[in-house]
Amino acid sequence: MLTTRVLAASHEITLKGGNRGFFERALRNNLVRVLEGLPLAELAVPARVVIRFARPVPWPAVEERLEAVFGLSWFGPAAAAGRSYDELEASALSAVEGGSAGSFAVRCRRSDKRFPFTSAEVERRLGAAIARTTGLAVHLDHPDLTVRVVIQADGCYVLTRTARGRGGVPVGTSGRVAVLLSGGIDSPVAAFLAMKRGARALFVHFHSAPFSDPGAVRKVRELAAILGRFQGPGRIAVVPFAPFQEAVAAVCPPRLRVVLYRRMMLRVVARLARRWRCQALVSGESLNQVASQTLSNLASIDRVAHLPVLRPLVGFDKEEIVRLAEAVGTYETSLVPFPDSCSYLMPDHPARDTLPGECERAEEALDITSWERRLQNEATIEAVQPAPWTWGPGGCNFERQVS
Ligand code: ATP
Ligand code: MG
Repeated sequence: MLTTRVLAASHEITLKGGNRGFFERALRNNLVRVLEGLPLAELAVPARVVIRFARPVPWPAVEERLEAVFGLSWFGPAAAAGRSYDELEASALSAVEGGSAGSFAVRCRRSDKRFPFTSAEVERRLGAAIARTTGLAVHLDHPDLTVRVVIQADGCYVLTRTARGRGGVPVGTSGRVAVLLSGGIDSPVAAFLAMKRGARALFVHFHSAPFSDPGAVRKVRELAAILGRFQGPGRIAVVPFAPFQEAVAAVCPPRLRVVLYRRMMLRVVARLARRWRCQALVSGESLNQVASQTLSNLASIDRVAHLPVLRPLVGFDKEEIVRLAEAVGTYETSLVPFPDSCSYLMPDHPARDTLPGECERAEEALDITSWERRLQNEATIEAVQPAPWTWGPGGCNFERQVS
């Protein structure tokens, strides 16, 4: 299916009162970013979003791009239906003609009060006209086909299919966060959730080379690129962490290792975050998922962070996180296993509970501040380019699909 016009409804933005212009500009910027490469002819954001292409574009190409934009509640291919009721009726009839539905319902939203009929009147009149012409039955509760009519200042539109948007608020409206990105399932989902609420994410990954496989870092870069689709080009800091882990393994109680590693990660991420003007840190921890994620351990970890630590997954079960990871598109990449020979850096019995002061005492055996500085200095900062779209220039043969 090809389309030249798309209508989309913004989500929550209508609630933002005086800040509405700010949210709409951010939404517009995000839309322009994902639509780059498509023959965009017009993009209007006030009221509902209207996108017009200069040439017909395959619907899946539009769908995957708009799914990467936070701040949309639904979107769909739309037919422009003029400004009068008669034009609207003609468009609606041609939109339902030839379909295989047995029943239908008309839903109308009218923001242009100059239109001579109310929404309810349009629904009744159009419903009667469609039933008369096509013989379809009206079914208001569970219709096979919903004919959506939007009447707004720039004209009327008819839609017969819509996709759910991701919701949330546009990226760029909530400041920046630094995300602790591991190669696991959880942290990419945590990053996604922070971006969904409007934050721009910068990533930090700690690797254990030479004890871990170099493929593990490539995998994290790939995860960052998939997440990049939601926010555009970004940055990742890659930090060699093995020397610090060895130092901890040599002189600290084994049961505290994981918490001590995590405390150092947070210190280093907080340093990078300040340099990057991030206002919070994000991690993929969820309460009680593993020993290092009990309340007392999370408290021991947070004591060293000088910025708020957001944990968007705190109340999620693993199964729920897996479902989200599938919807985000990171699950398969997160599953790729890599041989890990750093098990000697991991304790056999990690502490489920740490007492206040316990980690601080263990850290006295290390020069914490110079480790912080060293790890920050050894971080390599790389650019993250968003993963290419599966549909479109750079993906499948898009031009052939169009013609
Ligand atoms: P994930 O939680 O992402 O599935 P995981 O289960 O391997 O990965 P956990 O031990 O649960 O990791 O770690 C909890 C959180 O700590 C991660 O979600 C991530 O935010 C952070 N973290 C762990 N290891 C790293 C790392 N090597 N680099 C950056 N952040 C990390
Ligand atoms: Mg985890």
